[in-house]
Amino acid sequence: MDIKNISIIGFHGFKDKGLYFLGNKVDRNEFIDFLWLIKESGYNFYTDIDILNNKINSKGVIIFFDDAEESLNFLITSNSIPKDFKGILFVIGNYIGEYFLWDVIGKKRKSLDYETIKEFISRGYSIGSHSLTHKPLSYLEYSQLEKELKDSKYILEKKFNVDVISFSPPFGVIDKFSLNIAKNYYRFIFSINSNLGIRDNNLLIANTGIIFDNKYTLYYKILKKNRLINFFNSLNEKLYLQFSKGSVLLKRFGLL
Ligand SMILES: [Zn+2]
Repeated sequence: MDIKNISIIGFHGFKDKGLYFLGNKVDRNEFIDFLWLIKESGYNFYTDIDILNNKINSKGVIIFFDDAEESLNFLITSNSIPKDFKGILFVIGNYIGEYFLWDVIGKKRKSLDYETIKEFISRGYSIGSHSLTHKPLSYLEYSQLEKELKDSKYILEKKFNVDVISFSPPFGVIDKFSLNIAKNYYRFIFSINSNLGIRDNNLLIANTGIIFDNKYTLYYKILKKNRLINFFNSLNEKLYLQFSKGSVLLKRFGLL
């Protein structure tokens, strides 16, 4: 089965109910419905490790979660999740169990803790690196960039006793220079940003990210068939990324 037949979709966090036009939270129950819809349509759930081990033998999806935030807990505590569901957790090396300090004040997101991540692994999830400190890669000096890419991999491998073969850049943004270094350490690079404009064999760009979805719009994204949804999604994605970058710049200037 060709890897091109695999759909890749990226998420951040989840919440109960609310409006999702801006922000990166997806409704938990919609997500669960979505998992059942794709399962009932004959798709399997895969991870990057399955690609490496040639285990992809049917149509399928790889679902990945940037930041591995605490709101993912329901994926292992809820009885409604399909038993064979698994995905990739992109963990930030220095933030396991910690609050995300780069977030705008008041958001208070936190990473899953060590024990919970272990539980995810025992259920077939794989672990990827989402850098060491979640700094935007293109602002870093070479030595710092190397650390973010390399040390995060080794810290995660040592802590969790797993192979870390994939990297997802903070904010979904990676430039060519960083990408070339990342390729020394990783087999695959995932990004929530579908507008990177870089073509590379290691680069697996999400069909789409985040936001304002229900199970049907998510399903259409997997099928890549609904142009209207794709249009709104790319608009939304740009707004979202703009929003993220803004909070980083404020931090850089010492305002947050
Ligand atoms: Zn992130």
